[in-house]
Amino acid sequence: MKDVFAFAWHYWTKQPKLFAVTIAVLTVATIIETNMPNALSGFFEAIRLRKEASTVWWHLAAFLATYFGYLLTYNFVWRLYNLFENNNFNAVYNDAFTHIETLSEQYFVNTFTGSMITTIKRGRDRLETFEDQVLVNLYPTILTVFCTIVFLGMRMPVLAALLAVYVVVMLLLSALLVMKYAGPAQEAYANAQDEFGAHLADSIGGIITTKSYAQERLEIARFMEQSAELRKHNLKAYWRANTTSLIQRCFLGGMLTMLLGGGTWLFLNGQATIDDMAYLVLAHTILQSYIRNVGDHVKNLMTSSYDLHAIIALMEEQPSVKDKPNAKELHVSQGEVCFHDVSFTYPSKTTPVFANLSIKIRPGERLALVGDSGGGKSTFVRLVQRLYEVSDGFITIDGVRISEITQESLRSSVAVVPQDPILFHRSIRENIAYGRQNANFDEICKAAQQANIHDFILSLPTGYDTLVGERGIKLSGGERQRIAIARAILSDRKILILDEATSSLDSISELAVQKAIRTVTHGRTSIMIAHRLSTIKDADRILVFHNGKIVEEGTHNDLITRNDGIYASFFEIQSGGFLQPVD
Ligand code: ADP
Repeated sequence: MKDVFAFAWHYWTKQPKLFAVTIAVLTVATIIETNMPNALSGFFEAIRLRKEASTVWWHLAAFLATYFGYLLTYNFVWRLYNLFENNNFNAVYNDAFTHIETLSEQYFVNTFTGSMITTIKRGRDRLETFEDQVLVNLYPTILTVFCTIVFLGMRMPVLAALLAVYVVVMLLLSALLVMKYAGPAQEAYANAQDEFGAHLADSIGGIITTKSYAQERLEIARFMEQSAELRKHNLKAYWRANTTSLIQRCFLGGMLTMLLGGGTWLFLNGQATIDDMAYLVLAHTILQSYIRNVGDHVKNLMTSSYDLHAIIALMEEQPSVKDKPNAKELHVSQGEVCFHDVSFTYPSKTTPVFANLSIKIRPGERLALVGDSGGGKSTFVRLVQRLYEVSDGFITIDGVRISEITQESLRSSVAVVPQDPILFHRSIRENIAYGRQNANFDEICKAAQQANIHDFILSLPTGYDTLVGERGIKLSGGERQRIAIARAILSDRKILILDEATSSLDSISELAVQKAIRTVTHGRTSIMIAHRLSTIKDADRILVFHNGKIVEEGTHNDLITRNDGIYASFFEIQSGGFLQPVD
């Protein structure tokens, strides 16, 4: 709970003036409201003492003025509060998104995208609930109880003391009832709803499989089981909420009985007047309107605090790769990449992927990485981008250790074409210009031409303004990869990392992609995870990876002639199938 308060406090004190003014005006509004029974009592007193008509009217006017004064001040509070809380929500969204952008790849590998989105959205919503409970529900409730006890104490001190004890006991019991009795049932219902939703999504998502295996009956039966479970939890939650509400209202009835009974006793004993009785009735009405929902406020406070832990944890997450305090900017002139005795183990693993790996990639060299799955090719290129820190040894670019330079300058020097490029749901033009935001349209078209995708783009009804759908879903794999190649060409970086698409390209797309690869790698230090013979044959050097080791190294012609070589056997097996020559 302490961390949740600290989290909320951080945002509240980001706008100290607005926070202070909101609380001050809220305090004034609450005091005005708790003073209304006094104003009503004054009016009754004027009648009881049969004062002059003008005095009676004046008291009535004073009571009504208090009433309208309260209404207007309270409305003003809400306007201030809405501004205050909206600024907070905005700050939470902005901080969370900015923070996520600073985190390293390792975090995203281990965290579901959906859960991150839920954490941020829920974080904002729960902060709203938390703020509402603390600032505009519980704080005015406590203040109202306090002011009422003080005002009542001035009239009937014994009754005020009794009220103080009664209210404290009632609030404690009420909170206990909600937390221990109604709350758990409500929580079980919420969990059942989540489960029901997940089951529904799973079942509808797999409906094609259900149909093809004729399992509709099974799915319907399972669905009915789930909905029966939901009904059971729903009923229990409603039942307990009703019982709790009944007990709470009985408490409030007890408070009314105590105040009116006590007042009547004092009245009959000549220690209270009819205007004191009027005070009691209105004071009770106001008091009960606050106290009635205290149990729910406490429950909401607890659940929102619980849910806020996820966003607090997200904000506390530190990037696993950090820039050194005096990290310099990298300026690549040649594009030489060297691994010096590099060892690397993934943080979640114990066996190293690489042990003492040394390799020099010459400026402008086209290097193909081949080998079986799990050999370490992707890890190799991740280390070049410093998506992970090496465990031992170091990597240099043009002789500068990449651990000594800023990640931003490193990644701005490397163009990456992933195997399955993810495009943004923005226009093709924006997607191509992503690595060089200031590129003009002619430059974008030229890059697209070189990537062999220009004609395709022009054939679309809205050309370069076409939106590509979420993650680029409206385009085929080959088209996406050529757009990613155009992006790499346009960004014009000295070092290129290219993960070739393994499959799903028809031969025409494949030819187009191959031509694009040839263009983009020209004059750049290129590290290509290669799956196709044409790419491999074009390479200046091939590294064959096996279990994190470079087991063979050379040109295609060198390697193919090695007896019992992995590459030679790999080529022999695959040249008839997957590795098809294109020229
Ligand atoms: P390749 O690209 O040659 O298929 P990888 O570099 O992806 O090989 O994998 C090398 C080894 O590292 C494999 O054993 C794989 O399971 C492991 N690995 C890959 N990525 C991760 C990761 N993010 N976390 C932990 N282990 C990983």
